[in-house]
Amino acid sequence: MAIESKLPPETAPPLRATVKIADQLGICQAALIARGLPACQEAQRLEIAEVGADGREQRLVEPAAAAWRALKAAASADGIALSIVSSFRSIERQTEIIRRKLDAGQAIEDILTVCAPPGFSEHHTGRAVDLATPGVRALVVEFDQSPAFAWLAAHANDFGFRLSYPVGNAQGFEYEPWHWCFHER
Ligand SMILES: [Zn+2]
Repeated sequence: MAIESKLPPETAPPLRATVKIADQLGICQAALIARGLPACQEAQRLEIAEVGADGREQRLVEPAAAAWRALKAAASADGIALSIVSSFRSIERQTEIIRRKLDAGQAIEDILTVCAPPGFSEHHTGRAVDLATPGVRALVVEFDQSPAFAWLAAHANDFGFRLSYPVGNAQGFEYEPWHWCFHER
């Protein structure tokens, strides 16, 4: 039976589409609901927040991009170098990432502790960034030992950025000291 038909009638069409994707990936809806993951809409209007050293364009929605530039400039003035390694990510791309992990033999339950289900990643919103600093491998927990992390912990909130997944976060994700999300102030 289609899970779709069990959704409340007010469920938005984009969310209905992600339910179908989740079903195909073997993601248990009940487990998602139990985790209380909020649905994240895909951003429609994006701008280039920065271009990485690798030439990759990192895209965010306008207010997040502006806040990011201000944060980066302030960090730089304090001698802290920060760069974006990941920013906007489409629902389609999130699906690909999960499918690749499944193909590599990982269990969906394990994948979902490090990877949000399609439709539930803050990266869809164009407001979340994964950050890196020179001298620390990208996307490792040791990032929290860096001066860059100490700076973010002290100042990111002034620019509207918050750590989304601290140790023991209620949403059931592993600790991600590199993942920060812009919230309107
Ligand atoms: Zn992230």
